[in-house]
Amino acid sequence: MPSFREIRDWSPGYLNVAPQHVDIMAECQACGEQREFDRRSVPAAMRQQLIKEIEPHLKCATCGAKAGKLRFGHYVGEE
Ligand SMILES: [Zn+2]
Repeated sequence: MPSFREIRDWSPGYLNVAPQHVDIMAECQACGEQREFDRRSVPAAMRQQLIKEIEPHLKCATCGAKAGKLRFGHYVGEE
């Protein structure tokens, strides 16, 4: 399984300015679940919004909590 390497102290601010080569990982702060975040899964009306405005709408598929946190970085394979 590839691991996620977060870019420290960096956020694009708005989701739609996150470069395509940057991977996004959604983390549930309630249960710790981590999964790759597909930016196309965000409704068109929300893509213009700030990351911090989108995060409260992220519902965890595992525990159902709305405690999502988006992290930006890169998935790196095992070497
Ligand atoms: Zn959860």
